[in-house]
Amino acid sequence: MTAHLAPVAREALLPTARTWLEKPPLEPFIDGSFRSARSDEQLPVVDPGSGLTVSEFAAASAQDVQDAVAAARTAFDDGRWSELDPEVRERKLHRVADLLEADAETVAQLEALDTGKTLAETRMDVDEAVAVLRYYAGWASKAEGSVLPAPRQYAATGSREPLGVCAAITPWNYPLPILMYKLAPALALGNTFVAKPSEQTVLSTAYFAQLCAAAGIPDGVVNVVPGAGSTGAALTAATGVDKIAFTGSTRTGQAVMRAAAGTLTRVSLELGGKSPQVVFADADLDAAVEGVMVGIWTNAGQVCVAGSRLVVDRRIHDDFVSAVLSRTGELRLGHGLSPHTTLGPLISRAQRDRVAGLVDQAAAEGAEVRTVGELPGGEGFFVAPTVVTGARPGQTVEQEEVFGPVLTVLPFDDEDEALRLANGTPYGLASAVWTKDVSRVHRFSRGLRAGTVWVNTYGVFHPTLPFGGVKASGFGRELGSAAVDHYTELKTTVIGL
Ligand code: ADP
Repeated sequence: MTAHLAPVAREALLPTARTWLEKPPLEPFIDGSFRSARSDEQLPVVDPGSGLTVSEFAAASAQDVQDAVAAARTAFDDGRWSELDPEVRERKLHRVADLLEADAETVAQLEALDTGKTLAETRMDVDEAVAVLRYYAGWASKAEGSVLPAPRQYAATGSREPLGVCAAITPWNYPLPILMYKLAPALALGNTFVAKPSEQTVLSTAYFAQLCAAAGIPDGVVNVVPGAGSTGAALTAATGVDKIAFTGSTRTGQAVMRAAAGTLTRVSLELGGKSPQVVFADADLDAAVEGVMVGIWTNAGQVCVAGSRLVVDRRIHDDFVSAVLSRTGELRLGHGLSPHTTLGPLISRAQRDRVAGLVDQAAAEGAEVRTVGELPGGEGFFVAPTVVTGARPGQTVEQEEVFGPVLTVLPFDDEDEALRLANGTPYGLASAVWTKDVSRVHRFSRGLRAGTVWVNTYGVFHPTLPFGGVKASGFGRELGSAAVDHYTELKTTVIGL
């Protein structure tokens, strides 16, 4: 099909990105190739920066999902992947990383078009995906077992064995990195894989699947079933899946966990957040302002670790908010593929309307709402960066995950109040504290109920650093050596001497 592209996209896209977009509708990727979906359901690929439908894809039906799981099951059971020498698996994963690196600009462009993110951000996404792949490629040959203490008449070992078929259900905000947090450790440790990307962002995951085939990953080891919630639900209900790794909203995470109970499938859940950035008066305030900028405006606030609650010492509240507003005024809203853009649109019309509704509600409930900057013309799904002050603790805007460019500010009078406010939501994904007092760093970090605490920095992700939540933000850790435990089972072998 011919893509209906906005002028900025027409100008920016490389021929390789354009060709991929204009190929026949994307189909499920099963057993090593794209094949016709067993449903007539076509879903649109929408450019959030222009509102235009730029392509479409065939949604995988429950039958397609079952085929994908069966392909992954066969590929696991016959040992074509798990029984390769670890060094061979390692080399093949590096080869996938090489191919992704070679196509980095094409993938970054497709991702910017599909998600609305700026090209600067999607380039970082591709770099991160490559780094995570390479990190876990190394684990293939380095994951070790142990010799277990046992009574003298026995010798006992603990070995790490792959789980089997692992499935991933991923969201639209970081399609490629979040896929890689799941796929890279799973494959490195000998599992096979079925991925269900968000229906809003299928392009990069499908592109990645064909790179796996080109890199010589055996057929059936990586499968992709694009589709909406019903495709995800079919995957959680399918028999033959050994683990589901989910990233998305808390409500959908609960549905995934309920479904997984029926088949006793292991789950790990990375869910929503409402992460506090706590700024003390003794902090390096210039650095803290930059941390707040990164924390809330990255990907227009559509980030599970968005630092969406600024908890700030009352004595510096007004000056600090002014400094944030002034820096925010330098942002340029626009299409993700425009080189001038530093803040892109939201993912969809529905998301824009939801965010706008939450901001209106905050104002109606008495908070002061300040928006900064000009909305671009056209039909893109833009929301201007918004700072909300004077909200009551407990008010919706400071409790609910907005998933948009909305920063809520809460003042505190002392450290105890700061900690109460910081911990005062159902979520516990990330948090940050800004202070130069080293005792307070330790005391406050200890008190924060969150999977990650950043001190005098924000949003640092690295393949070596485990990531995940507590409370309504889910459980299980991705990245680092922690994920090795999630994609293997410990086998105890006891030998009578
Ligand atoms: P968001 O609000 O961010 O779109 P969701 O949690 O609804 O978040 O979506 C995250 C992922 O979960 C997407 O890939 C989506 O298609 C999928 N999904 C939605 N509903 C279900 C469901 N009932 N079962 C499994 N996956 C689902």
